[in-house]
Amino acid sequence: MRVARRSSLITTGLLALIIGGGVGLIGHEATSVGPGLGLVPVVVILLVGLRRPWRRWRLAQQELSPERRRWLQAHVPLYRALDEEGRARFDRDVQFVLDEYSFEGVQDVAVTDTLRLSVAAGIAALLHGRPSWELPGSQSVLFYPERFDETYHENVTASYDGMAHQQGPIIFTVLAVQKSWDDPGDGNNVVLHELAHLFDFDNEGADGVPSLVDPVSAPDWQSLVREEMRRVRRGRSLLRPYAAEAPSEFFAVAVEHFFEQPDAMARQHDELFRALVSFFRLDPRSGTVLDPSEGSLADALEGEAPAT
Ligand SMILES: [Zn+2]
Repeated sequence: MRVARRSSLITTGLLALIIGGGVGLIGHEATSVGPGLGLVPVVVILLVGLRRPWRRWRLAQQELSPERRRWLQAHVPLYRALDEEGRARFDRDVQFVLDEYSFEGVQDVAVTDTLRLSVAAGIAALLHGRPSWELPGSQSVLFYPERFDETYHENVTASYDGMAHQQGPIIFTVLAVQKSWDDPGDGNNVVLHELAHLFDFDNEGADGVPSLVDPVSAPDWQSLVREEMRRVRRGRSLLRPYAAEAPSEFFAVAVEHFFEQPDAMARQHDELFRALVSFFRLDPRSGTVLDPSEGSLADALEGEAPAT
């Protein structure tokens, strides 16, 4: 996550210039205020457009608290693999998320710092290899006290521990979030799972082909997914059976294993592992971020190993 995107700074500047210039011209010709009128939209546009970069810049000057760093160190395998510079960037991303996302408890759920940190850690992990990315979707997170069903109600047969929406809040149950990072090597992490779905939403909904997969590589990716889903059905996969439910669930479950069991996945699912390394631009075993020139998805799907 960047403090500011150059493209959005340029857009803000141009917008301020064009609208400010236009209003200034009107002020000059049609009002007694004069061209100074153009300063009003300039100030408004700059205040709105620079608000987030300004907040992020200020946050980036601060250090994550020692308690939060200790928690990340104890619970997030990727964090442990990072060098000092990588951890500083991870810390910074966590701070951005904690500042920008809204976290709310449903019914009597108390939103603790650990719950917030658990979600922020998932976002920072998914974006670590792609510093220019932002997580798509809304910045609202809801914590439910118990499992819920399709209608968001809790009952004894409800089976959902989490749910992501294309344009709505990300929902988690408290227990599932707590379990996600309590045993970070079990390949089961509802936080990573639901966040992974957000990469998979496009115009046709979640279909197991993340919208950032280039169209040229999409058929090879889909055929890899079909093959890997067959392995899951035959019980010959590291991935848990739920991965065979649908291609979208396969992708989300694969992301969980990728970040929690990267060594085992690299050994047992070489091509899938390399595809995910390429997708996230990150080798979670070492915390190494790929160079832009290496490890394209097309190469990964053709069997060429990226130099990590
Ligand atoms: Zn899912």
